Amino acid sequence: MIGGGISGLSCASMLHWTGINVRVLDQGYRIGGRCTTRRTLEGEVIADLGAPCFDADVPVFIEQVKRWVDSGVCARWDGAGGAFVGVPTMDAIVDSMAQGIDVRSGCRVERVFRHDRSWVVEVERRDGARVTERCERIVLATHPRESDRLIGEHSNTLSLMLGSVETRCVWVLMMRINDPLEGLPAMVDVGDGSSESDEIIARIIRDDHKPGRSRETDSSTLVIHAREDWSAANRELDRVEAQRVLTQHTRSLLSSMLGHDLDDQRIGDVQVHRWGSAHPVEGLPQRCETDDDARIVVCGDAFGWKGLPLGVQSAWLSGRASAMALIETTG
Ligand SMILES: Cc1cc2nc3c(=O)[nH]c(=O)nc-3n(C[C@H](O)[C@H](O)[C@H](O)COP(=O)(O)OP(=O)(O)OC[C@H]3O[C@@H](n4cnc5c(N)ncnc54)[C@H](O)[C@@H]3O)c2cc1C
Repeated sequence: MIGGGISGLSCASMLHWTGINVRVLDQGYRIGGRCTTRRTLEGEVIADLGAPCFDADVPVFIEQVKRWVDSGVCARWDGAGGAFVGVPTMDAIVDSMAQGIDVRSGCRVERVFRHDRSWVVEVERRDGARVTERCERIVLATHPRESDRLIGEHSNTLSLMLGSVETRCVWVLMMRINDPLEGLPAMVDVGDGSSESDEIIARIIRDDHKPGRSRETDSSTLVIHAREDWSAANRELDRVEAQRVLTQHTRSLLSSMLGHDLDDQRIGDVQVHRWGSAHPVEGLPQRCETDDDARIVVCGDAFGWKGLPLGVQSAWLSGRASAMALIETTG
């Protein structure tokens, strides 16, 4: 399994519990991909950096979410219209999915090639060491461009399909503000495209108002998602400049929303991150895709389910569909 985000772990856990030997390789410092939580080097939580919450609409996913809720790693967030969040942080969900599975973070897959009937996977580890692994089949659960880079030369069909997926970038700002921000809702969409819409910011999320977070009375932790059109137009912006623009803009937006001036002194720690491929623009019609001759399966949030928004739910469903496809073909 290349990729230890929601889709990869959904597939890997189903394979594992069916008795199929699976190893997950992920290039990240931690697993989780776009469902991750930013921490300090000492491990202190800063905020959820990717998906802030998620919905559950499809019965089989609702059942899974119930199991997460029962085991205490997930809760409904009333402040966000009843969407679900990981408890105490979003990455609690991926950690619980990874339990019992051979998962290796800090392992970037550089190249894959065939040797006899097996696949050889070349991996660069975080410590700089290069190792190779052999396997019977490969599941790709990275973003489409990366999956295409890895297997494009081995499967024209998959390459054509993956190459057709466009993704959008999103700048994200994490901010600590020395003010309780009384009256600010838990999650507010300010860039909804209406005439009142903000031209830079899409969404403001009160990270410390999520269930299971520690909340302080005199300060707040916010996560700000920039609009996709603004992020695309400013994709190559220098990080320092992106942080400056987003911080100043958020400060003045909050001041006008709250009706009191938030001066610069109230702005505490600030960090910015650019997700180069935050969201697929349009979903693929199938739930996953296989190339049986090449022994490859591809999954991820870009694989849609009719009418469902693309996100944590579609990623989980796609991972599950790819596990079922593999189980069928391996008997
Ligand atoms: C800012 C933002 C806001 C979002 N908001 C929402 C929301 O409100 N609701 C919702 O449902 N969803 C939301 N999402 C989307 C959601 O996070 C994703 O749909 C979901 O997490 C995707 O999971 P995935 O497994 O398909 O991909 P990813 O999480 O991207 O996982 C891919 C994994 O592959 C690894 N990888 C890549 N290349 C290699 C390589 N060469 N070798 C090894 N590993 C590799 C990466 O490290 C990563 O862990 C949001 C995402 C972002 C970024």
